[in-house]
Amino acid sequence: MGQGRQERHRHGRGAAQDTAALRSQQGKTVPRESLGADRTEVVTQEADTVGVRSAGGRVSCELCPHHCRLKEGQSGVCGGRACVEGVVRPINYPQLASLALDPIEKKPLKRFYPGSYILSAGTFGCNLKCPFCQNHSLSMARADELKTESYSPQALCELALALSRRQPGNLGVAFTYNEPLISYEYLIECASLLREHGLKTVLVTNGTLLRPYSLKLLEQVDALNIDLKGFSEDFYHYVKGDLKTVLQFIEDAVARCHVEVTTLVIPGLNDDEELIRKEARYLASLSPQLPLHLSRFFPRFKLQDKEPTPPQTILRLCEVAFESLQYVYPGNI
Ligand code: SF4
Repeated sequence: MGQGRQERHRHGRGAAQDTAALRSQQGKTVPRESLGADRTEVVTQEADTVGVRSAGGRVSCELCPHHCRLKEGQSGVCGGRACVEGVVRPINYPQLASLALDPIEKKPLKRFYPGSYILSAGTFGCNLKCPFCQNHSLSMARADELKTESYSPQALCELALALSRRQPGNLGVAFTYNEPLISYEYLIECASLLREHGLKTVLVTNGTLLRPYSLKLLEQVDALNIDLKGFSEDFYHYVKGDLKTVLQFIEDAVARCHVEVTTLVIPGLNDDEELIRKEARYLASLSPQLPLHLSRFFPRFKLQDKEPTPPQTILRLCEVAFESLQYVYPGNI
């Protein structure tokens, strides 16, 4: 998921519980039952283009650099995909653990339909292992640890459409809270349906998806906020990811969609001025108008022994990024 941001979500509760449970601080309640969305359909999307059968009866998932080789019934590093009947497929969607109507600025997207709202959906699992994850209760959860509710792509699209006809409106669906890319097949189906109905698809993501899957998905997506965890291979080694994969994903996304980038700044880990300068120069080489969010870290998950990032550090690093980029935003301040 986009782990570098702390988004409010609901989880561990049935999605049909009272509407107050769906209310976030800035978001709006989503009264799903009253919208009549059909929640009985089940996704039957085949994942045969993702899995590759290998020796020993295992099937390897080719979505991300982990290349998990899975036996029947085994789940991958991300916890959101598993080998089921010889095919690697998402086991997290269509089970939603979190649903809210949020201001688009909360994703954060500052320069994509500002002032609008978007239905934000999430489930469990992530293919990175950041010790500082700001949303670990969903991203690191397993299937049996959360209460979820099934929403087929059709049902989610119907809900988004119904909300778009009400006040305060709804732009489409943002897949967020956990890492959406591990639910590749579900995203492809949802994004295609949403576009058919004139709605937008937004991803809040860590950008850890390999070609050709990334290219196919990005054709269907309208906007992304991509976490760039730190501008070094060493930092990506620390979070069990791969910098090159993320940079390729960012470049492919910038060529096709509206993109904003977020870096969660952690004291002593990735707050080096020169690294932020390099990161900003790299992003400016793609587009000087590419918005960058530099967000404060707060102690979470396994990184409880660090102080929150001082606001003055964020402001100083924003100045550094402004040397190359036109739009730089401090986050969590
Ligand atoms: S998406 Fe999940 S199952 Fe597939 S390779 Fe990555 S971590 Fe493994």
